[in-house]
Amino acid sequence: MENVTPPKYVLQVLRSLKARGYVAYLVGGCVRDMVLGIHPNDWDICTAALPEQVMEIFPGARPTGLRHGTVTVDINSRHVEVTTFRSEGDYADHRHPSSVRFVGELTTDLSRRDFTINAMALSPDGLLLDPFGGLEDIRRRCIRCVGNAPQRFEEDALRMFRALRFSARLDFYIAEDTLTAISEKSNLASALAAERIRDELEKTLLTKKPETVGRMSQLGLLDAFLLKPGCSLPELSPAAKLPKKALDRWMALCLVLSRRGLIESPEAFLTSLRLDSRTIRCCSDGVALLSQPKPASPPEWKRLLCRLGVDTVSCAARCRDALDGGSCYKELKAILKSGDCFTMKHLAVTGDDLAELGLRGRELGEMLSFLLDYVIEYPANNRRELLLSLAGNSEEL
Ligand code: ATP
Ligand code: MG
Repeated sequence: MENVTPPKYVLQVLRSLKARGYVAYLVGGCVRDMVLGIHPNDWDICTAALPEQVMEIFPGARPTGLRHGTVTVDINSRHVEVTTFRSEGDYADHRHPSSVRFVGELTTDLSRRDFTINAMALSPDGLLLDPFGGLEDIRRRCIRCVGNAPQRFEEDALRMFRALRFSARLDFYIAEDTLTAISEKSNLASALAAERIRDELEKTLLTKKPETVGRMSQLGLLDAFLLKPGCSLPELSPAAKLPKKALDRWMALCLVLSRRGLIESPEAFLTSLRLDSRTIRCCSDGVALLSQPKPASPPEWKRLLCRLGVDTVSCAARCRDALDGGSCYKELKAILKSGDCFTMKHLAVTGDDLAELGLRGRELGEMLSFLLDYVIEYPANNRRELLLSLAGNSEEL
């Protein structure tokens, strides 16, 4: 298991279930990650105990997905999801378990999982249960559907996105039958909620292979969101150099898609994917900014910072560097570090100060803008007395 062992609180849940006579296993992503020597994000347990029984053993456990038989157990301020084996049959015979019966139930549960690498279980005493050859596929670095690939994608079209996401995250290839099934069944993606596609795209963008989103497009999975079908996006690979921040990665994607003419606008694209309004605004502004030449002087940078905000301008600078080369972000950071004023908030005079000079309404607003512009050009002059005398003199004029 490459030295990754389950934390104590997880072992405690497994032991408590066992002590009450219920078989229980670690299952799914955490087993895959342990085999790979990666520390899992979360630990999932599957068990023969019914949700009510799990809740009885762990008072305070929350029914978080009763429809799927999932109960969340909070333990030492961490949580573990405990899910009852899912099988068609009646699994109420937990009082007289025969190991064969339970292994049978476990296999049924595993057979519903998406890929062989996600369909392994580990018993508390370290026995790997791997009826679909997940371990061998991990060795081959291969994503393969459990069972008949086209059928599995018919059942849940999101699995097609998951296949590509896992291939990007783990740097695995996709088995031929699974890949063929994706290209044959890609039209099923149109039935999915945009939010689910958005989440898969974001997770894929955040991997070391963001260009995998281009493979999704090439395979037809993004036809509903793009103006032209079948495009790969190799130019997105340098986006891997960007920080693992969703905003950076979405902006890079929007930039590549805009340059290729594959979307009407970042706003239309991101709105159709149900992104939040902040991401939509930042990406629209960022892409517009990146269609212009880079700022030629510190005052130009500061005017942009004033107009679009630090987050958008920083993100756009990083995207420009990653995709086009250059050192915009370094330039920008030097300006931010200098402490130069570029917003009204940091101007050495306030609206109240100008009101005291007798300025009102529009006149006052225009004076503030004038002073900010002046200070952006001459940062050393962001001094109260100097600005007040400037405002006072100009008022006399
Ligand atoms: P991650 O590290 O991204 O959380 P994961 O493998 O744990 O990866 P989850 O989405 O948390 O992925 O799902 C947990 C497990 O549930 C998977 O490993 C897989 O066995 C199963 N699973 C999740 N989604 C599906 C699906 N759409 N179809 C079939 N099985 C699924
Ligand atoms: Mg998980």
